[in-house]
Amino acid sequence: MRGGIPLFRFRGIQVFLHWTFLLLPAYIALTGLAEGSSWRVIATDIGQILIVFACVVLHEFGHALTAARFGVGTRDITLLPIGGVASLERMPEEPRQEFLITLAGPLVNLVIAGIAFVTLALSGLAILTSDLFSDLSSWAGVLTFLFVANISLFLFNLVPAFPMDGGRLLRSGLGMWLPRPKATRIATVIGRILAVGFVLYGLYSGGAILAIIGIFIFMAAGSEARIVQQKADRQGLLVGRLVRNDLIRMEPVATVQDAWNALTLIDQHVLAVMDQGLFRGLVGREELKSALQRSEGGNMIGPLARHVPSVAVEESALAVLERMAREQLHAVMAVSQGAQVGVILRKDLEKALGPIGTGVGPSA
Ligand SMILES: [Zn+2]
Repeated sequence: MRGGIPLFRFRGIQVFLHWTFLLLPAYIALTGLAEGSSWRVIATDIGQILIVFACVVLHEFGHALTAARFGVGTRDITLLPIGGVASLERMPEEPRQEFLITLAGPLVNLVIAGIAFVTLALSGLAILTSDLFSDLSSWAGVLTFLFVANISLFLFNLVPAFPMDGGRLLRSGLGMWLPRPKATRIATVIGRILAVGFVLYGLYSGGAILAIIGIFIFMAAGSEARIVQQKADRQGLLVGRLVRNDLIRMEPVATVQDAWNALTLIDQHVLAVMDQGLFRGLVGREELKSALQRSEGGNMIGPLARHVPSVAVEESALAVLERMAREQLHAVMAVSQGAQVGVILRKDLEKALGPIGTGVGPSA
């Protein structure tokens, strides 16, 4: 649900109007006409929607510019009929940072409401107690609407329906005391209960948009909880699970030609050199190939065996992969209680862990 009609760009962040947004004024105009409203009333309703969404854009920039302070970029901001989404490159896992980035959005609405209120008070315009939602023809009317709309946006966003802002505040607040997956699970359950409430209340009161928001929250909460859990699983994966016992083992006296034939036959890239049951090192296909090119096919593979560092089977797979990337290792020896148990290949780690350090944090 990203992209659409480009509106403008500010601080390098492109703001898009998703095409489904156009359904909103169309829906208002059609229901207005069906109810026999005048064009003036319909224009006022659409004007109010545009004011609300201008405030939503500022709200999203509250998130995006705060994220930028923590070094997190924002790919774009997209306006949907149900609200805005700032697509952050990632949501920081540091709970305090997530808390501040999230809080900044609703705070923007609180500030706008405050400015509208103070302006009204200073200019002696009494806050209109009637016709709150039907008058944009005077400055007092516009300011009053700004005040009411932004207080509503502020309060609505603080409802703890994860992944809405209130739910993120709850998750990051819990995250200061609990592990992130657990904090996310609690926030997700509360978010889903509230989302069902939104749908039921929306259907009961005829608020189609509230019902759609409820469905959106319900699904988004589940997918975000899944991403957090997968990441935690990855971080909890131990290298012992990735030990290879299926490598070809050859004695150091085997010839380069025999080793090459064995490797190419089963399409593997590396073999283990074992000397009387003890691991001496690894030989890769590349070394065998260059030895063959030097016409050394009859030589023994023993001198070609490269020593590889050892890691304990209970080490974290992620930490080992990071070390292998840093030290440009393609294989390590897994050790359990001092005994060699097998080889771990970097490509297996990369396959199991996937790319390091990505995760999308949409923010409504
Ligand atoms: Zn927000």
